Amino acid sequence: MSTLTADDLRARVGELLAAHPPASTDRLEFLRARFDAGLAWVHYPAGLGGLDAPRELQNVVEAELAKAGAPDNNPRRIGIGLGMAAPTILRFGTEEQKQRYLRPLWTGEEVWCQLFSEPGAGSDLAALGTRAVRDGDEWVVNGQKVWTSVAHIARFAILVTRTNPDVPKHQGMTYFICDMTDPGVEVRPLRQLTGEAEFNEVFLSGVRIPDANRLGAVGEGWKVAQTTLMNERVAIGGNAIPREGGLIGMVSQTWRDRPELRTPELHDRLLKLWVQAEAARLAGTRLRQQLAVGAPGPEGSAMKLAFANLQQALTGLEIELSGEDGLRYDDWTLRRPEKVDMLGRGPGYRYLRAKGNSIEGGTSEVLRNIISERVLGLPSEPRVDKDVAWKDLPR
Ligand SMILES: Cc1cc2nc3c(=O)[nH]c(=O)nc-3n(C[C@H](O)[C@H](O)[C@H](O)COP(=O)(O)OP(=O)(O)OC[C@H]3O[C@@H](n4cnc5c(N)ncnc54)[C@H](O)[C@@H]3O)c2cc1C
Repeated sequence: MSTLTADDLRARVGELLAAHPPASTDRLEFLRARFDAGLAWVHYPAGLGGLDAPRELQNVVEAELAKAGAPDNNPRRIGIGLGMAAPTILRFGTEEQKQRYLRPLWTGEEVWCQLFSEPGAGSDLAALGTRAVRDGDEWVVNGQKVWTSVAHIARFAILVTRTNPDVPKHQGMTYFICDMTDPGVEVRPLRQLTGEAEFNEVFLSGVRIPDANRLGAVGEGWKVAQTTLMNERVAIGGNAIPREGGLIGMVSQTWRDRPELRTPELHDRLLKLWVQAEAARLAGTRLRQQLAVGAPGPEGSAMKLAFANLQQALTGLEIELSGEDGLRYDDWTLRRPEKVDMLGRGPGYRYLRAKGNSIEGGTSEVLRNIISERVLGLPSEPRVDKDVAWKDLPR
């Protein structure tokens, strides 16, 4: 890691702003220049949008750029690319793959989705059955994925497949980068509780993926997927927000605005949630400091679990605090949003959308298992299928 200081980074941001004044520079041109200056994600290697600097210094960069009115890279729309695909490509990708994919991923020119879950392989991802069969320099992929967020706008996907059905389920998987515009990739919308289709079913029929698009070794897809999943939990649960920022800020504001709806019981709940939000915020800061010096560990599961609990409790409280207004919801037209906008929408949307927080990125039940086994060291769940070939598992 480099020895750059906060002042060094301020100076570099100053140089970027001088060479590309935000007021007169095209948004994409600015973002590309920012990536090339190593100010995209400062903890990434030099030449790949970073400077090998401590991750916490990213906050310095963001603050300086926000002060100057510079455009951001709209992280919500490209959350899967940033939170899941990028760290996996960084760890397992070849030099060519890193050079090809990371820049347009970060600038948002190319959106990524995650083709992991299948009907029958969600919590138990290792049970997945989408087959990839080698054919010369290519792999031929057939199967079905489900709940694929943003697949309808994605250019690329991270994809886990089964390449050897004769070995136990955690072996015999292989991980690929899939071009979503390739023949044989079909994306169909799935309507969810909010009435919108933010995610999709994806059918893969004879999709040909070059071997050069493989991430990690053949048969080692589970190991690669673990990196994605650990980063996913931190990406979902470990965002940096200021004190009383995000949902707790919004609900506290509703409390201030609507004195006529207050009761002692609601006050008690609000205060408890305020304390929990603050504890989660500080724990997130600590987790990110740990991340700055190493890989994400299973502790990220606790952050994601706490985040889901808090989001659901807060959106429920907000509905109650909003009185009859809280029950209003929009017109249920089928829309296909490009991002989840929790703060930009009404309380009804927030309440319904937050239900998914305890499912997406690993359910709360499964995260509790991970915490009990990998953080607390409690005995494992019995796993009778561990040594059985995937093809012999009942399904
Ligand atoms: C909004 C949203 C967006 C999503 N986006 C994506 C995406 O972009 N890409 C993608 O690949 N997937 C995505 N998913 C899928 C998500 O990861 C899965 O839904 C999740 O992993 C659960 O799998 P499942 O739905 O098959 O449920 P199941 O695994 O069938 O679980 C059903 C229930 O059983 C419980 N359960 C299962 N196993 C255990 C156990 N061992 N111990 C205790 N309880 C258990 C679960 O907690 C759950 O309550 C998304 C889901 C949602 C809701």
